[in-house]
Order: sequence, then C-alpha cells, then structure tokens
Amino acid sequence: MDSNTVVIFGAGATKACGGPLTNEILFRGFTNEYQIDREDFLGILNSFLTDNFFSSVPETYPSLPLLISFLDTAIDRNHALNAEWGRDKLIKAREALDYVIFAVLEHDLKRLQNNYYLKFYQNLYGHSGRLPVTISLNYDIIADNAISRWNDENGNYDKPFPDYMCDIATDFYKQKKGEGRLLKLHGSLNWLYCPSCNRMDVGISKSGRHFAKVLDELYQEVSLEQMLTCHGRPCRGCGAEVQPVMISPTYFKDYRNPHISRIWYEADQVLRKAERVIFIGYSLPDDDLDVLYLLKRGLSHLSDNQIHVVEYDENQRPLDEHPVGLRFATLFGTNINWYINGFEGFINEFNY
Ligand SMILES: [Zn+2]
Repeated sequence: MDSNTVVIFGAGATKACGGPLTNEILFRGFTNEYQIDREDFLGILNSFLTDNFFSSVPETYPSLPLLISFLDTAIDRNHALNAEWGRDKLIKAREALDYVIFAVLEHDLKRLQNNYYLKFYQNLYGHSGRLPVTISLNYDIIADNAISRWNDENGNYDKPFPDYMCDIATDFYKQKKGEGRLLKLHGSLNWLYCPSCNRMDVGISKSGRHFAKVLDELYQEVSLEQMLTCHGRPCRGCGAEVQPVMISPTYFKDYRNPHISRIWYEADQVLRKAERVIFIGYSLPDDDLDVLYLLKRGLSHLSDNQIHVVEYDENQRPLDEHPVGLRFATLFGTNINWYINGFEGFINEFNY
C-alpha cells in the first residue's frame, strides 16, 4: 500500500527496545550499576537535588521534565533559587543533567536488546516503497540510528543520515544526508545548539558510529563524549558555549530555539498531508498540551480508521477500557485501530 504514512514514536517505543522511560533516566543514572560518572557530574546533580528537593532516595526524585523546566526557567529568568544556588551554579546543574541524560541513554543504547525501529522500517518500506515520515518525542537516537542503518543497508551507504528538517550547519551532515525524514519535537541528545549565533551542529557518540560505516568519520570530527564536558563546549561558529537540545514537553511554549520552531512547523505540514498515522508507545498525556494541539489541528482531515495506536498491555484491555485508548478515542474517535501487543507484536500483526 503506497500512502503518506507518518509514524509517531513516544517513550514506550524506546522502552520496548530495552531503553529507559524518560522518568527512569535519573534513577538509572544514580544506580550503582551505571559506571557513567565523569568530572563529578553526578555529584553536582546530587547536591542540587538534595539541597532543593526533598529527595532522599532516587524513587522520590522529581520527574525529568519537571527538573529540566525548573532549571531552564530559573536560568532564562536570571533568577537565583536561593542564596546557595545562584544562576552560575544552576547552569552547572543543567550541564550535569545534560550529561547524565546523555550517558544513561548512551549506556542503554550500547545494550539495546532489539531495534524494532529498524525492523519496522524494513517491513513498511518493503510494502509501501518509501520510508515513512517519522515524528519522535524522544531525545534518544534509536530512530536516528535505525534510519542510518537502513540507508547503509539499502544502497545509500554514503548518505546515511536522516533528514532532520532543520538548518543543521555541520558540513559532514549536509553532505551525508539521505533518505528518511525525522522530526524530533523535543530535540535530540546528538544536537548541539549555540544560543549566541543559533548555529546547530550534529555530533555522534561512540556507540552511534557503529550503526553505519561512514558515521565513524563524523565521530572523529564531532564526538559527543568530547563535547559534553565541564570545560566548555565551544561553538564552531562563534566560540560561545553550545548545549544539547532537550526540551521538556511542558516547556515548548517558552522555548526560543528557532530550529525547534521550524521542526514544529514542518511537523504540522507533514501531518496535514498524512493518509495514515501510526502512534507507537505514545500515551498522549494531558500535560503534553502542545503536542495534542499539533495533532488535533494537523490530523483533522483524517477519519478515525486511518489512525493506528500501538500500546503494550498484558491485560489485553480493549480501547474503551484502557486509559491510553480512551484518550486517543476522545481525540480521534472510537474506530481507531488499537493494538495492545506492544511494538514487537505490532510489527508481526500489522497489515502493511
Ligand atoms: Zn555560536
């Protein structure tokens, strides 16, 4: 079937491949099994948490979106949190948080049990003759790597990168951009943004480079491990300090990164042309107001039977008995296609 298919990945898709859910990242960062610490980033973050929140054990840490929003709001407004935590220290805490998110996702990426994303792209492409447009709500780079691998395996080995649909300045990326549009609404841990001159670069991590041969060259040029240090991350354009782009879902409305605004615009455009939309592992939480708004407006031309929703539910509840199903039904209608056997089950049962 040849149609304009848009796939939307949420945290559940990463979880299905063995990666962490967003709210497990902090906990996993502090768990001893992770030998990720460098330059006392975990120590800085731990002081921030224990000084400012009543979090004596990892189970009671604030959620990651809340923590990101909290730090970004204080830094943006040039506020101190209290006498002890002034703006400079908050910036250090934000950098430490960036590193911990990166390190945990990177650690888990090396140990992914399954890359269902890749399997899904292979199956869908085999039936429709084109890669779907992907919208991801995750910071991790599993979809990115799956597209790179797919390009590598399908004759585009010299052009493995997905098209992020924004103005990335890295020459190597521009030369090597291939098939597969990937819109990352909340940013990506492999993007480095300069708030001074607005330049955006893409980097790669040690494990990411293995997904396609040519990516090793980028690793020599922009290694994320090298960029994420306490000693500064100079912009390749102006020398100011760059930062990864990881936006909390509750924070988009205040965000001033022009690349992210562009991605949201492009997402609106692709949704309006979609003939079929597949949600994988996205729970449509009420507080994702901006995403709900984007979906509601962009998909108003579709009927409910053109919407597919993939969840994992060991109790096999039907649409009208599952909280996620009910939220989707409220937004799109009760005839949406409802799959409850998870990402892997869906790949096998979907009528491509
Ligand atoms: Zn710059």
